[in-house]
Amino acid sequence: MKKAAARHPETLLAHLGRDPASHFGAVNTPVYHASTLLFDSVEAMQEAGHRRLEKGKSSYGRSGTPTTFAFEDTVAALEGGYGAVAVSSGLQAITVTLMSFATAGSHLLMPDSVYFPARRICDSLLQRLGVETTFYDPAIGAGIAELIRDNTALVYLESPGSLTFEVQDVPAIVAAAQAAGVVTAIDNTWATPLYCTPRSLGVDVVLHAATKYLVGHSDAMLGVVVCGEQHYAQLRRTSQFLGCAAAPDDVYLGLRGLRTLAVRLERHQSTALRLCAWLAERPEVDRLLYPALPGHPQHAIWQRDFRGASGLFGLTLKPCKSEAVLALVDGLDLFGIGASWGGYESLMIVTDPDSARSATRWNPPGPSLRIHAGLEHPDDLIADLEAGFARFNEINRGQATLTG
Ligand SMILES: *Cc1c(COP(=O)(O)O)cnc(C)c1O
Repeated sequence: MKKAAARHPETLLAHLGRDPASHFGAVNTPVYHASTLLFDSVEAMQEAGHRRLEKGKSSYGRSGTPTTFAFEDTVAALEGGYGAVAVSSGLQAITVTLMSFATAGSHLLMPDSVYFPARRICDSLLQRLGVETTFYDPAIGAGIAELIRDNTALVYLESPGSLTFEVQDVPAIVAAAQAAGVVTAIDNTWATPLYCTPRSLGVDVVLHAATKYLVGHSDAMLGVVVCGEQHYAQLRRTSQFLGCAAAPDDVYLGLRGLRTLAVRLERHQSTALRLCAWLAERPEVDRLLYPALPGHPQHAIWQRDFRGASGLFGLTLKPCKSEAVLALVDGLDLFGIGASWGGYESLMIVTDPDSARSATRWNPPGPSLRIHAGLEHPDDLIADLEAGFARFNEINRGQATLTG
């Protein structure tokens, strides 16, 4: 496709990562199942080995195939990066990013609202290798400057934060990091490149749990890291040295999911807004955690930096009995109970954000929940929630006992 930069993201989603002329006329880039790649000569094999850190080059199935490169190039173009590195999960995208910049004796800055397994890798494996991590208040903004040290290797962001949905002041944090010459990386899974492009806000490295909205159908594990030319070889080297190969069928499912991302996200967003409007009227609800709502503490930042909101949000309840919450969630018919999100189906889980924090506290009056608004008809979802609150109130009648 020519003149890609001038076109809208919806158009790019339909056309990037395809080359029918190279693939028998097939509309979609096929799945290449390959481990061994054969060469015409010893010299050709050595040459491929030397060039395997370059974009679109491979000497072995582990360093990628045309399916991998089609997915990588598509996400890189959507995020405004030079290139992308596909890996086998979102968590691997995080670990490849951290291990590309951390060195023994260096220091990382991570938001206190970070996806919990990212905290765990800092507090275990990286700590063991002599890397120190400071967790910071996600609302810190320009104040991050005071936490940057001479040995700070990376300022990491995630916006909005996992479970609690704080929106970070990305330009303010990036400005402080750039002034100190420190690399920045962000987890952009919630917004997808359609609703936020952090590289346009100055962030160096953008990563995704493609498992979520990019794949979009709850059937593949996939991660991807996007960056400028400056950091590309470094990220690709870490990924290849660690052996982080994305599986062929899963990168294909990532490409396939991208084709419908724009229409899916529109529906996820409108349903999330419908559910929030309904939940806001419920007497059992304390607070909704969704950046698109005017009452969200960083709503103005979201309006400034994002083009939309996806279907994942949180809420806190007023003080209530824990059995009432279980009756609500366990009895739901359409909302599944399970990890992950970004598929076509609705989910609801009970969360415990305070147990995953160290720099700030999360003390709502009652329990915290997280909802993924799927592609079902919103009226059916609301009817399911209404029945859930009826079960809740049957048990909760009388004295409130449980707090957050
Ligand atoms: C789920 C998730 C990840 C991890 O992705 P996996 O593919 O499940 O490993 C990373 N970041 C965020 C924000 C997530 O929600």
